[in-house]
Amino acid sequence: TAFSRLPLSPAMQANLDQLGYAQMTPIQAASLPLALAGCDLIGEAQTGSGKTAAFAIALLHRLKADLAAVQSLVLCPTRELADQVTQEIRRLARAADNIKVLSLCGGSPMRPQVESLSHGAHVVVGTPGRLIDHLERGTLDLAALNTLVLDEADRMLDMGFLDDIKAVARRAPANRQTLLFSATFPDGVTDIAAKFMREPQTVKV
Ligand code: AMP
Repeated sequence: TAFSRLPLSPAMQANLDQLGYAQMTPIQAASLPLALAGCDLIGEAQTGSGKTAAFAIALLHRLKADLAAVQSLVLCPTRELADQVTQEIRRLARAADNIKVLSLCGGSPMRPQVESLSHGAHVVVGTPGRLIDHLERGTLDLAALNTLVLDEADRMLDMGFLDDIKAVARRAPANRQTLLFSATFPDGVTDIAAKFMREPQTVKV
């Protein structure tokens, strides 16, 4: 199925063409219509499935470039994944003008992150512990957040991030969309979905 079936902006369609994304991958075809309609979504998908573009296209669809505030937050288990996700969102954001995507991970010095945040970011990608750090210091504000993504939720739990994920989700505005992607569904993942998502639709491929 082609991306042209989706209600995306002409700029996003042109950008997808340029990237050579002609057909949607199965997880994209299953999740994008629901995600673009605003549903909370549980996606059962592995790395390599195209899940990153699935949530990236959805969050960019709703993003207002002229609103200088964090509107989307993506939680990832590792810096490596956060960096990959950041790159993919940046590629897909080329269609719009001046969208700032920031990666905030543990193990990096705090000061440059605080500095970058003070210059404004539309999308923040990061690891849960560091994001909590910024929320507690008041350097990250989620008042304008409309999309929360939990990527590789099972791996985040494996890494001991359960409490941090819960703390971030509690600080996000109630009136938001939550998209959760995971390869497996242990109890911890279904608990998070039950607590922090609203009537989620499940898609698997
Ligand atoms: P992911 O599973 O999100 O890590 O994506 C795997 C790879 O597939 C990435 O390199 C993406 O850039 C690429 N990709 C994602 N969606 C598409 C698509 N619809 N067509 C072609 N390549 C894609």
